[in-house]
Amino acid sequence: MTKARTAPVPADGEPPAATREFRWRGGRTSLNLTATVGGRGPGAVERLRDPADLARWFREAGMTERHLAVSDEELVAARALRGAVHRIAAAVRAATAPEAADLALLNHWTARPLPGPGLTLDGDGSPRPLPPALDTPGLLGLLARDAADLLGGPLSGRIRECAAADCTLLFVDESRAGARRWCSMDACGARAKMAEYRARRRGGTTAHPHGGTRPD
Ligand SMILES: [Zn+2]
Repeated sequence: MTKARTAPVPADGEPPAATREFRWRGGRTSLNLTATVGGRGPGAVERLRDPADLARWFREAGMTERHLAVSDEELVAARALRGAVHRIAAAVRAATAPEAADLALLNHWTARPLPGPGLTLDGDGSPRPLPPALDTPGLLGLLARDAADLLGGPLSGRIRECAAADCTLLFVDESRAGARRWCSMDACGARAKMAEYRARRRGGTTAHPHGGTRPD
Protein backbone atom coordinates (compact mmCIF):
# COMPACT_ATOMS: atom_id res chain seq x y z
CA MET A 1 0.00 0.00 0.00
CA THR A 2 2.37 2.62 -1.16
CA LYS A 3 1.56 5.85 -2.77
CA ALA A 4 3.44 7.99 -5.19
CA ARG A 5 5.12 10.85 -3.41
CA THR A 6 3.29 14.10 -3.78
CA ALA A 7 5.18 17.24 -4.66
CA PRO A 8 6.83 18.68 -1.56
CA VAL A 9 5.05 21.68 -0.15
CA PRO A 10 7.11 24.77 0.66
CA ALA A 11 8.49 24.81 4.16
CA ASP A 12 7.63 28.45 4.55
CA GLY A 13 4.28 30.08 4.13
CA GLU A 14 2.37 26.85 3.85
CA PRO A 15 -1.09 27.53 2.52
CA PRO A 16 -3.81 26.43 4.94
CA ALA A 17 -5.12 23.88 2.45
CA ALA A 18 -1.78 22.07 2.53
CA THR A 19 -2.37 21.05 6.12
CA ARG A 20 -5.07 18.74 4.76
CA GLU A 21 -2.56 16.93 2.58
CA PHE A 22 -1.84 13.53 4.02
CA ARG A 23 1.68 12.33 4.73
CA TRP A 24 2.83 8.94 3.42
CA ARG A 25 6.31 8.64 4.83
CA GLY A 26 5.78 5.99 7.51
CA GLY A 27 6.51 2.95 5.40
CA ARG A 28 3.51 1.20 6.97
CA THR A 29 -0.16 1.97 6.65
CA SER A 30 -0.67 2.02 10.40
CA LEU A 31 2.13 4.56 10.87
CA ASN A 32 0.72 6.66 8.06
CA LEU A 33 -2.53 6.71 10.00
CA THR A 34 -0.70 8.25 12.96
CA ALA A 35 0.61 10.91 10.55
CA THR A 36 -2.91 12.27 10.19
CA VAL A 37 -2.01 14.31 13.25
CA GLY A 38 0.72 16.75 12.29
CA GLY A 39 3.14 18.41 14.67
CA ARG A 40 2.02 16.56 17.78
CA GLY A 41 2.01 18.72 20.87
CA PRO A 42 1.14 22.41 20.93
CA GLY A 43 -0.02 23.50 17.51
CA ALA A 44 -0.93 20.00 16.39
CA VAL A 45 -2.77 19.75 13.09
CA GLU A 46 -5.75 17.42 12.73
CA ARG A 47 -5.91 16.11 9.19
CA LEU A 48 -9.00 13.94 9.77
CA ARG A 49 -11.38 16.77 10.46
CA ASP A 50 -14.54 15.26 9.08
CA PRO A 51 -15.73 11.87 7.85
CA ALA A 52 -14.96 12.75 4.23
CA ASP A 53 -11.30 13.20 5.19
CA LEU A 54 -11.17 9.63 6.46
CA ALA A 55 -12.84 8.33 3.29
CA ARG A 56 -10.23 10.22 1.26
CA TRP A 57 -7.42 8.87 3.44
CA PHE A 58 -8.56 5.27 2.87
CA ARG A 59 -8.55 5.84 -0.88
CA GLU A 60 -5.20 7.64 -0.98
CA ALA A 61 -3.74 4.91 1.23
CA GLY A 62 -4.77 2.39 -1.42
CA MET A 63 -6.95 0.51 1.07
CA THR A 64 -10.09 0.85 -1.01
CA GLU A 65 -11.12 2.15 -4.38
CA ARG A 66 -14.65 2.80 -3.24
CA HIS A 67 -15.96 6.07 -1.92
CA LEU A 68 -17.05 5.03 1.54
CA ALA A 69 -19.79 6.81 3.44
CA VAL A 70 -17.93 7.23 6.73
CA SER A 71 -20.07 8.10 9.74
CA ASP A 72 -19.19 10.50 12.55
CA GLU A 73 -18.93 7.53 14.91
CA GLU A 74 -16.51 5.76 12.58
CA LEU A 75 -14.36 8.89 12.41
CA VAL A 76 -14.23 8.98 16.21
CA ALA A 77 -13.31 5.29 16.24
CA ALA A 78 -10.54 5.84 13.68
CA ARG A 79 -9.08 8.67 15.73
CA ALA A 80 -9.19 6.49 18.85
CA LEU A 81 -7.40 3.64 17.07
CA ARG A 82 -4.88 6.14 15.74
CA GLY A 83 -4.19 7.40 19.25
CA ALA A 84 -3.74 3.89 20.59
CA VAL A 85 -1.33 2.97 17.80
CA HIS A 86 0.72 6.11 18.39
CA ARG A 87 0.90 5.58 22.16
CA ILE A 88 1.84 1.91 21.80
CA ALA A 89 4.52 2.88 19.28
CA ALA A 90 5.82 5.50 21.71
CA ALA A 91 5.97 2.90 24.48
CA VAL A 92 7.76 0.44 22.22
CA ARG A 93 10.30 3.11 21.27
CA ALA A 94 10.81 3.96 24.95
CA ALA A 95 11.05 0.28 25.91
CA THR A 96 8.18 0.69 28.37
CA ALA A 97 4.95 -1.25 28.66
CA PRO A 98 2.04 0.09 26.61
CA GLU A 99 -1.19 0.96 28.43
CA ALA A 100 -3.55 -1.98 28.79
CA ALA A 101 -6.44 0.13 27.50
CA ASP A 102 -4.55 0.86 24.29
CA LEU A 103 -3.78 -2.82 23.77
CA ALA A 104 -7.41 -3.68 24.44
CA LEU A 105 -8.57 -1.15 21.86
CA LEU A 106 -6.12 -2.44 19.27
CA ASN A 107 -7.15 -6.01 19.98
CA HIS A 108 -10.83 -5.09 19.71
CA TRP A 109 -10.16 -4.21 16.09
CA THR A 110 -7.81 -7.07 15.27
CA ALA A 111 -10.39 -9.53 16.60
CA ARG A 112 -12.90 -8.53 13.94
CA PRO A 113 -13.40 -11.21 11.32
CA LEU A 114 -12.24 -10.02 7.92
CA PRO A 115 -13.32 -11.34 4.55
CA GLY A 116 -10.45 -12.65 2.47
CA PRO A 117 -9.70 -12.08 -1.18
CA GLY A 118 -11.70 -14.01 -3.70
CA LEU A 119 -11.21 -14.79 -7.35
CA THR A 120 -12.49 -13.06 -10.41
CA LEU A 121 -11.80 -13.55 -14.11
CA ASP A 122 -9.73 -11.37 -16.35
CA GLY A 123 -10.90 -10.49 -19.84
CA ASP A 124 -9.12 -13.54 -21.22
CA GLY A 125 -10.83 -15.82 -18.74
CA SER A 126 -7.84 -16.31 -16.45
CA PRO A 127 -8.50 -15.99 -12.74
CA ARG A 128 -7.05 -13.15 -10.69
CA PRO A 129 -7.51 -12.16 -7.04
CA LEU A 130 -10.61 -10.19 -6.17
CA PRO A 131 -9.88 -7.88 -3.20
CA PRO A 132 -12.53 -8.03 -0.49
CA ALA A 133 -14.83 -5.02 -0.38
CA LEU A 134 -14.28 -3.73 3.14
CA ASP A 135 -16.42 -1.18 4.93
CA THR A 136 -14.93 1.31 7.38
CA PRO A 137 -14.88 -1.07 10.38
CA GLY A 138 -13.23 -3.67 8.16
CA LEU A 139 -10.57 -1.17 7.10
CA LEU A 140 -9.94 -0.21 10.72
CA GLY A 141 -9.55 -3.92 11.47
CA LEU A 142 -7.00 -4.16 8.66
CA LEU A 143 -5.13 -1.14 10.04
CA ALA A 144 -5.08 -2.62 13.52
CA ARG A 145 -3.68 -5.88 12.17
CA ASP A 146 -0.95 -3.98 10.38
CA ALA A 147 -0.13 -2.16 13.62
CA ALA A 148 -0.06 -5.37 15.65
CA ASP A 149 2.18 -7.02 13.08
CA LEU A 150 4.56 -4.06 13.13
CA LEU A 151 4.58 -3.29 16.86
CA GLY A 152 4.95 -6.91 17.89
CA GLY A 153 7.25 -7.98 15.08
CA PRO A 154 10.92 -7.80 14.14
CA LEU A 155 10.64 -4.25 12.82
CA SER A 156 9.37 -2.83 16.11
CA GLY A 157 12.89 -1.76 17.01
CA ARG A 158 13.15 0.14 13.76
CA ILE A 159 10.31 2.58 14.45
CA ARG A 160 11.76 6.08 14.50
CA GLU A 161 10.51 9.60 14.98
CA CYS A 162 11.78 12.11 12.44
CA ALA A 163 14.83 14.01 13.71
CA ALA A 164 13.56 17.35 12.39
CA ALA A 165 12.69 19.69 15.24
CA ASP A 166 9.29 20.55 13.81
CA CYS A 167 8.34 17.07 12.59
CA THR A 168 6.90 14.30 14.72
CA LEU A 169 6.19 11.72 12.02
CA LEU A 170 6.93 8.10 12.78
CA PHE A 171 8.52 5.87 10.18
CA VAL A 172 9.99 2.40 9.86
CA ASP A 173 13.70 2.52 9.22
CA GLU A 174 14.33 -0.37 6.86
CA SER A 175 17.73 0.89 5.75
CA ARG A 176 20.54 -1.60 5.99
CA ALA A 177 22.46 0.45 8.54
CA GLY A 178 19.38 1.38 10.55
CA ALA A 179 20.60 4.96 10.90
CA ARG A 180 17.91 6.81 8.99
CA ARG A 181 17.09 10.12 10.69
CA TRP A 182 14.36 11.79 8.69
CA CYS A 183 10.89 10.78 7.61
CA SER A 184 11.80 11.96 4.13
CA MET A 185 15.11 12.94 2.59
CA ASP A 186 13.24 15.16 0.12
CA ALA A 187 11.41 17.09 2.82
CA CYS A 188 12.88 17.12 6.34
CA GLY A 189 16.31 15.78 5.33
CA ALA A 190 16.77 18.40 2.64
CA ARG A 191 15.65 21.20 4.95
CA ALA A 192 18.02 20.05 7.69
CA LYS A 193 20.95 19.84 5.32
CA MET A 194 20.18 23.30 3.95
CA ALA A 195 20.00 24.68 7.48
CA GLU A 196 23.37 23.09 8.30
CA TYR A 197 24.83 24.64 5.16
CA ARG A 198 23.50 28.09 6.05
CA ALA A 199 24.77 27.74 9.59
CA ARG A 200 28.26 26.91 8.31
CA ARG A 201 28.20 29.91 6.00
CA ARG A 202 27.28 32.14 8.91
CA GLY A 203 30.29 30.91 10.79
CA GLY A 204 28.92 28.00 12.67
CA THR A 205 26.17 29.72 14.59
CA THR A 206 23.47 27.38 15.66
CA ALA A 207 20.42 27.84 13.55
CA HIS A 208 16.96 26.51 14.01
CA PRO A 209 17.08 23.70 11.53
CA HIS A 210 13.97 24.70 9.68
CA GLY A 211 12.69 28.21 9.58
CA GLY A 212 9.35 26.95 8.53
CA THR A 213 6.22 26.41 10.51
CA ARG A 214 4.97 23.39 8.69
CA PRO A 215 3.85 20.76 11.20
CA ASP A 216 4.50 17.18 10.09
ZN1 LIG B 1 10.07 14.67 9.10
